[in-house]
Amino acid sequence: MKEIRIAKNAGFCFGVKRAVEIANNEKNKRTYTLGPLIHNDDLVNKLKESNIYSIEVDNINELQSTDSVVIRSHGVTAEVHQKLKSSNARIVDATCPYVLSIHKKVMRYFNEGYQIIIVGDKNHPEVIGINGWCNNTAIITKTGDELTDISDKVCVVAQTTERLINYDKVVEKIKLKNIELITFNTICNATKERQESAEELSKTVDLMIVIGGKKSSNSRKLFEICKINCNNTIFIENKKELPLDLLKDEKNKIIGITAGASTPDWVTNDVIDKIQSIDKDL
Ligand code: SF4
Repeated sequence: MKEIRIAKNAGFCFGVKRAVEIANNEKNKRTYTLGPLIHNDDLVNKLKESNIYSIEVDNINELQSTDSVVIRSHGVTAEVHQKLKSSNARIVDATCPYVLSIHKKVMRYFNEGYQIIIVGDKNHPEVIGINGWCNNTAIITKTGDELTDISDKVCVVAQTTERLINYDKVVEKIKLKNIELITFNTICNATKERQESAEELSKTVDLMIVIGGKKSSNSRKLFEICKINCNNTIFIENKKELPLDLLKDEKNKIIGITAGASTPDWVTNDVIDKIQSIDKDL
């Protein structure tokens, strides 16, 4: 009989849960989300069944005044906000309050003449959104290597899902420059808690399963963390991707499970049910 251990903190974070609820509560006949609501194809397909579709920024001008458009938890730039306003569609802002607070900080310090530095991934929608509140002038870095030529007044924030080790490294590098420095560790607790729980659990299991969308950066980070402790770590999107040979392998007695902040509970429960049913047939 296999033992299944589930990470203490796993699955939907507060901001994602809130965004999904907000979108589902929108009763307008035609509702759109600006980009996929979350990085999880199963949920995006489920939303389509409720007539909630994803559109891209380039299609904003096609919105009708009778439509609703949901801004996802990652948030958007000031410019996109403005575009949405001029479309006359009903704007439903589901930006996570923690991300909104970064927008406010960035706008305030940019207006006070600070150079904004974002520790994060320049291609991530949340970072693109944050950069839009300082006129797209931020220096975006993960390592601090891009900071050779910076102003003498600097304000640092982090992508909410960034690893603390990267944020600390960048701040330490700037401190050496002896300039005026304001720092905001804006890494979200939900991220930290999921990473810590996954790390702890992966040390105690024979097989570790990380459930998350392939495009979900926080799920991929969980996979990377678990892989360090448990070489037998796999990253799957849903129950269909469960590898039967690993589940049937006698050596894998204890199975650990964690899920990214954008993985719905029903996807995780489906995975658990399938493991249990395979185990019963062994
Ligand atoms: S990870 Fe944190 S900041 Fe990002 S959406 Fe979730 S709760 Fe909000």
